[in-house]
Amino acid sequence: MMNQRNCPICRTPAANGCDHLALAAEGRDFVRRCVELCEGQQAWAILCQQRQEQNQVRGWVPEHRDFTWLETAFCEEFLRHLTWFGGMDHEWRSGPRPEQGGFWVLLWSKNPQRLWWELRGELEHESASPSAQQEAPPWLIWLSPR
Ligand SMILES: [Zn+2]
Repeated sequence: MMNQRNCPICRTPAANGCDHLALAAEGRDFVRRCVELCEGQQAWAILCQQRQEQNQVRGWVPEHRDFTWLETAFCEEFLRHLTWFGGMDHEWRSGPRPEQGGFWVLLWSKNPQRLWWELRGELEHESASPSAQQEAPPWLIWLSPR
């Protein structure tokens, strides 16, 4: 295994697993798994719809903020500032055949269960009241075709 990672809290190799490994998932599955593990699917669906509508208002191309699949963007927006966020790493893991290997995303926390509770709260809060930062400036709405 290349570039093997250790737990930032107890230094156990990630492949061995420890109580601090909240999630190890392939990059493309990471965001979906996070949402599942915190049981925030409902809030997440609302949030995605809101963001899509806002992007249409602003005339943004969808790729501009596609945090639904880009684990780094998701981490920056929803995970990094959480109290129980312990870190995120990438680790190359090989599959049964060389071409099936891929980058896995590792998410660390001193207490994964609390991290998931916190994330769920975050998603529910965001979907209930989008933060001011997420609102389009008024002049942009005026310029948008109706
Ligand atoms: Zn650990």
